[in-house]
Amino acid sequence: MNLQERIAHVERRIREACARSGRQREEVNLIAVTKYASLATTRQVLELGLQHIGENRWQDAKPKWEELGAQGTWHFIGHLQTNKVKDVVGRFAYIHSLDRLSLATELQKKAEALDLVVRCFLQVNVSGEESKYGLAPAELIDFARQIRGLDRLRIVGLMTMAPFESEPERTRPVFRGLREWRDRLNDEAILSEPLTELSMGMSNDFEVAIEEGATWIRLGSVLVGHE
Ligand SMILES: *Cc1c(COP(=O)(O)O)cnc(C)c1O
Repeated sequence: MNLQERIAHVERRIREACARSGRQREEVNLIAVTKYASLATTRQVLELGLQHIGENRWQDAKPKWEELGAQGTWHFIGHLQTNKVKDVVGRFAYIHSLDRLSLATELQKKAEALDLVVRCFLQVNVSGEESKYGLAPAELIDFARQIRGLDRLRIVGLMTMAPFESEPERTRPVFRGLREWRDRLNDEAILSEPLTELSMGMSNDFEVAIEEGATWIRLGSVLVGHE
């Protein structure tokens, strides 16, 4: 399949997952993860009408962002080192990996200096895998309280990565868990604005994530492919 065919194929699968779970297609935003893709392919992704681009390392994103940054909406989805905050704020509209206080205060500082607001997801390690970044679910409420006063951060929702499962259905409890934590933060009104977003679902498991309420899915290999 070429890129255009892969996009059409993924689009069909998204629509089917929405239909199965009684959701509207417009509720699910698609992020094309271009971390394995060249500049040329990333350009093609945008030309074919996809708006959201996801990258997980600034070093890899830089040449693509410098050419194409103005054309799309850029999402930083990988672990963010504090010393890379200066490169990312102002370039990426969304950061999906806010998971510690030192990062939050650095983001606040940089956003203040540039007089802008950074939209963030709190990354949660729902599965508890040691190899994964993210806040432990038990830390989430306290963390949300700690960052409540950082007025340059707009916390839009929660993000997670499920473990790779050869049977995608097995990821369902992870995605359901993230949704329940979001609802709990909202019920207890921990943050000043309700969290509306759930960033969850990758190539292997996005249909399950959609069925569990994903509003942003992050697709690399199934959509953009490897190069
Ligand atoms: C690489 C990556 C993705 C996309 O992975 P695929 O399995 O190729 O779809 C999504 N989210 C994050 C955080 C990633 O690092």
